Amino acid sequence: MVLEALVKFSNFYGSNEELVLAGGGNTSAKDGDVMYIKGSGTRLADITAEGFVKMSREKIAEIFTKTYPDNDKEREALSLADLMAAKLPGQESKRPSVETTLHSLFPQTYVLHLHPALVNGITCAADGKAWAQRLFGNEVLWIDACKPGYTLAKICYDTLNEYKAASGADADMLLLENHGIFIADNDVDALGEKLFSVMAKIREQAPCDPDFSVGEFDGDKAQLVFNEIADTFGEDSVITYEPSAQSLELASSAESFNKIRKPFNPDQVVYCKPYPIYINSIEEIAPVVEEYKNANGFLPKIIFVKDCGIYAVDFTPKGSETAAALFNDAMKIEFYARAFGGAKPMSDELTDFIVNWEAESYRSKQ
Ligand SMILES: [Zn+2]
Repeated sequence: MVLEALVKFSNFYGSNEELVLAGGGNTSAKDGDVMYIKGSGTRLADITAEGFVKMSREKIAEIFTKTYPDNDKEREALSLADLMAAKLPGQESKRPSVETTLHSLFPQTYVLHLHPALVNGITCAADGKAWAQRLFGNEVLWIDACKPGYTLAKICYDTLNEYKAASGADADMLLLENHGIFIADNDVDALGEKLFSVMAKIREQAPCDPDFSVGEFDGDKAQLVFNEIADTFGEDSVITYEPSAQSLELASSAESFNKIRKPFNPDQVVYCKPYPIYINSIEEIAPVVEEYKNANGFLPKIIFVKDCGIYAVDFTPKGSETAAALFNDAMKIEFYARAFGGAKPMSDELTDFIVNWEAESYRSKQ
């Protein structure tokens, strides 16, 4: 029954593009000592019962009684090993979502975790925390941006325990800065009521949507740029070109591009690479790409070109389309965040951590 309900609401929220892109978001349900959690590499839109990993709640809870090393790599490796060891027999071939420990913190039966652009308009904003307090009061707990994995789970663990000690009640919503939202309830329908009520309040403050219709672009230059990018990246490259009004606005000057130069959330780092590049003229493409590759050790995926808009480059059609979709999402976040003091990207330290995070790199390979 619980698992059936879990599959159903996962498919429902996962099919809504306003709420879920690529492999983003995850869900869980608890039944006695068992927690069912979305498997890494599955998608909410079409996940089946098989896609969920059966975990021991007791074993996951033990993770929070341990002390792990401060060193990032050692801490994440050891806590991940403990998480893997919390899988129940028969689950050996599956890998639970990297956010499993967060789901386990809620005593409520059902948990829904999403990264909707509208919600991230407030979680990725300079005044997001103050606005969250003003709009939601104590209904929602705010978690400052921090390293994902064990560190984030431990901070949420402490925050939820403090809330319970002070109020006597279990918190049921978390807003994670530069990340997304967690909602928990024993009733499946209440998850949606809570989510849509939060989104409606954000929407009141950010009533306009960015313009993703085709804007006014320079067709001749756009074609030459396309050819030059194809030459630079090689014959196996796949380019998704989107001259949306929104991308043209951000590509209108280096100053405009600055608003979107750094990543807002982990998904963007995973699917778009951390930094897009900005190019004024065709001659700049090859040298700027080369410079980026030398500095970062990988190629850029998102290229903004003045008068042309955005080009998403990868080496498979799916990779290219996903990068474009996730970067459109970043542009939405930047736009909505204007209502909450302007966009606030992740710190460079956090971005570097995510670039190097083993679990995240596993996810992007799926
Ligand atoms: Zn997440």
